[in-house]
Amino acid sequence: MKLSKVTAVVAGLCLCSVGALPSCNSTRKIESDKPPALRPLNVVVVTIDTLRPDHLPCYGYQHVETPTLDSLAQRGVLFEQAVAQTPLTPPSHASIFTGQYPTVHHVRNTGGFILPTSSRPLAKILQEQGWDTAAFIGSAVLKKIFGFNLGFAVYDDQMPKPGREDEFREDPERRAGVVVDRAIQWLNAQSGKPFFLWVHLYDPHLPYDPPSPFRERYKDHPYDGEIAYTDRELGRLIDVVRAKAPQNTIIALLSDHGESLGEHGEFTHGVFLYDSTLRIVFMMSGPGIPAGMRIKPQVRSIDFLPTLLELMGGKAPDQAQGASLVPAFSGRPVATGVSYGETLYPKMNMGWAELRSIRTDQWKYVRAPKPELYDLIRDAGETTNVIRQHPAEIQRFEAVLNGVVSAGGRGTTEKVETRLVNEQAMEELRSLGYVSGFAPRTYELTGEGVDPKDRVHILKLLEEAESPTSKASDARRSELLRQALAEDPGNPSLYYQLGGRYEKAGRYKDAMNLYRTALAKGIQSGRLHSRIADLSLRAGKKDEAIAEYEKAAQFNPSDLDSQVNLATAYLERGRAGDAERVFKWILATDPDHAAAENGLGLIAIERRDSAAARGYFERAVQLDPDMLEAQLNLGLIYEMAGDRARARSCFKAFLAKASPAQYARVIPKVRQELASLQEEAR
Ligand SMILES: [Zn+2]
Repeated sequence: MKLSKVTAVVAGLCLCSVGALPSCNSTRKIESDKPPALRPLNVVVVTIDTLRPDHLPCYGYQHVETPTLDSLAQRGVLFEQAVAQTPLTPPSHASIFTGQYPTVHHVRNTGGFILPTSSRPLAKILQEQGWDTAAFIGSAVLKKIFGFNLGFAVYDDQMPKPGREDEFREDPERRAGVVVDRAIQWLNAQSGKPFFLWVHLYDPHLPYDPPSPFRERYKDHPYDGEIAYTDRELGRLIDVVRAKAPQNTIIALLSDHGESLGEHGEFTHGVFLYDSTLRIVFMMSGPGIPAGMRIKPQVRSIDFLPTLLELMGGKAPDQAQGASLVPAFSGRPVATGVSYGETLYPKMNMGWAELRSIRTDQWKYVRAPKPELYDLIRDAGETTNVIRQHPAEIQRFEAVLNGVVSAGGRGTTEKVETRLVNEQAMEELRSLGYVSGFAPRTYELTGEGVDPKDRVHILKLLEEAESPTSKASDARRSELLRQALAEDPGNPSLYYQLGGRYEKAGRYKDAMNLYRTALAKGIQSGRLHSRIADLSLRAGKKDEAIAEYEKAAQFNPSDLDSQVNLATAYLERGRAGDAERVFKWILATDPDHAAAENGLGLIAIERRDSAAARGYFERAVQLDPDMLEAQLNLGLIYEMAGDRARARSCFKAFLAKASPAQYARVIPKVRQELASLQEEAR
């Protein structure tokens, strides 16, 4: 247990709970190596992304219908004042599943960080005790390359391939309906062993585009439409869960953060630490959990893991920093009065200062270049900064903050390094001949720099330029971004947005110049290099593209899309050995990568090893039946081997899905090939 007696006495501010952590760990190590057997309960955790509690009827909102969530709340406990530790998807999920603050679990931003293999997230704990584990993911930001698959036997993160419209979307998502279908399929195949199922539903996240009939029904407030749609899909999942395992299943539902919706000058989430994005939905139901109970004191996402494990008859690993909320079910106090929050997004994505906060039932303190203090009881909307009136509180909160930050083991001013591959992956890279080191970016978190509050006009310009509902023309949107860039030339995200617009408009030269300007201004990122590489490829400059992809890979070896492009460019330049190395690296990172299997198949063909090629193509098609190149290649291999029946079915599968625009020259040839095969079969 990490919360010492002292914290219970102080009942709110507990320096020691966080400060004393490392020493606790070492003395309790042996004990924690032998976890007690857990009660054989099934666990279903649903995380709904970007879901604001005050947009749900069960939290008092009137303008949306969510029968599934209403019923979940009635059947269990609902935490009225639940808060996330950060308004960013991957770090917040890491806190939910490890019970740790981001300073300790080390996932600090969206992209650029992975959950270390030494972590003990819920899936790992349950898998070690014999649970069947599976996760179904709604967004690319939680793909397995970021380490969230630790402990999951099944980790379904296959995202749809971006269509033309989505070409510039960095983070593909899939709808709740698809994610729930896959989860139900898995549930129906369960044999009766206890299971842990995590379902991540991304829909309330931007863009707000609910499907019909929610699109029409919520025409004027599409964010709520996404919530209503997600609720309907969640209902299908919960029905199956109840039918499968009615008595012995704990269902937990949390959001990872809220959505600002214009409050405080922020439109989405990630920049600020106000309650509009820090407050989350949190409810649990099942054995040991009272029905219809509402719990008022503040609780945190790090408290979920200890709570669940206590309900299962175990306890959280000593590394966890949260507290079990089970005592609250019988009205007893819980030591959850202090919640640490942070966002490194302004620092890493916008070039401003990072923010940290301490929240209690009464206060929100934000450490910023211009610090803020809000009295949440009198001013729930956090509109009046009362920092001058409360010097004593500031001192206390500063001390608490320093305690949390130094518990991460990096001192009170942290130096954070992006971390994109784990130790094992690093070994694999070396064994594949990637000898040069990678170039992690280092960020000094001094708390100094541009205060994000002083840049809300930039957020406004970005919103007008990027919002799908904005009425501005494309030309006007680019103009808005240029205006923002003129005022804030050190802001990396502005270069990506404006460059993306240029590319979309076919202004490739302007895009290239812009990215080069960003590099000249000292903005370093793999993304800049991979965009320059894409543009070079488009201009037919393969060697330049290769050089840029290589740089991109140095910054971010787990950017697999760029790695595929790099390997393909190598192949086209006759550098089969280099291409093979990269494809093998991709498969080491993601064993289910269809494009890499297809690439290795092409190399095998070049080496006249048709048996090996066949194996690669078969696997590519099996992994992704929509991978048409592999389908075609496999058909040709079968045809060469005289296996006409299989060749025919591959060609048919290709023709059924190939778009005439993309495959204009190939389609007639395949048709001809198929016709001659059918002729022979008669
Ligand atoms: Zn999120």
